[in-house]
Amino acid sequence: MTETGTLTRETPGLSLDRFPRTPLCHHPTPIEKMPRLSRYLGGPQLFIKRDDCTGLAGGGNKTRKLEFLVGEAVEAGADMLVTQGAVQSNHVRQTAAAACKHGMKCHVLLERRVPGVAASYEQTGNVLLDTLFGATHEFRPPGLDMNAEAEAVAETLRAKGHKPYFIPGGGSNPTGALGYVTCAQEVAAQCKHSGQSFDWLVMATGSTGTQAGLVAGFHALGYDLPVMGISVRQPHDRQVAAVHGLTQRTLEKLGADPVPQSNIRVDDGYVGEGYGIPAPSTFEAIRLTARQEAILLDPVYSAKGMAGLIGLIRQGFFKSTDQVLFLHTGGATALFAYEDELIHSLS
Ligand SMILES: *Cc1c(COP(=O)(O)O)cnc(C)c1O
Repeated sequence: MTETGTLTRETPGLSLDRFPRTPLCHHPTPIEKMPRLSRYLGGPQLFIKRDDCTGLAGGGNKTRKLEFLVGEAVEAGADMLVTQGAVQSNHVRQTAAAACKHGMKCHVLLERRVPGVAASYEQTGNVLLDTLFGATHEFRPPGLDMNAEAEAVAETLRAKGHKPYFIPGGGSNPTGALGYVTCAQEVAAQCKHSGQSFDWLVMATGSTGTQAGLVAGFHALGYDLPVMGISVRQPHDRQVAAVHGLTQRTLEKLGADPVPQSNIRVDDGYVGEGYGIPAPSTFEAIRLTARQEAILLDPVYSAKGMAGLIGLIRQGFFKSTDQVLFLHTGGATALFAYEDELIHSLS
């Protein structure tokens, strides 16, 4: 494993200059140590890549994707962004903010994916911020093909004279995944600069663009850093297939060689009852990370990712000498939509 986390070859052809891009993101985002959490868990040395600090309206991982997606929208002459997500979608909030920055309108479809929520769930947290950014929204029941629904709405808006640009849920297509190719480049450059190397990168995986972009980026760079995605919704096999599919399409866009499916690593042991429903391990991760490192996680994504990291440490998955990087993908703006459950978990 001596090659892990080192550049094994030069980086031909990974310039992303040929793709339209608009600046939205603070980067590089810092990589910080988590010494107190490492000690508390008695595990490997833990680090955190702060993509919760990408800078746009509360930050989070969708901002990197939106640099390329909104870049395409600007090039296409769009005057409106249309996208979809779950009610408390961080992607929708960041898209609504990106639209403001470009003087575009934003219209979103919100899927009622989480059962049994209080009425406030549809008003507070990210929904409040979507409205603050002037985005208009309509709700949908769960289980529809939401990208098809949103594309149909975009067509209707086009017929009325608008110039919408459609962004799929989570910004997860090869264009959006380029944002996480830039993150892979950034991690490689930060390691080169600091002399630090990592044995694993652990992160939450949902609509797949983040993991696909990272795996594609590391692969195209020849940088051997295994990525472990902690699923927030789907069982292992479906998530692996989905991530692998988008990884291949992203590599194709980059003009790089494909990766075998064995490069896609997913653990589905921390989903709990389903998407957007925090498990006890989710709240434990929120509490521990807050009290040991003063870092805020969210109950839908990043805390399930952290619960996965904690669970893997407790299972003895890592060597004690491993250096493990957790990717913080943001989302703490959703905490207030889970206020009652969070308070209950702290008492
Ligand atoms: C969207 C999101 C993720 C998952 O990223 P995908 O690219 O959809 O897999 C993780 N964390 C947060 C906070 C998110 O909003």
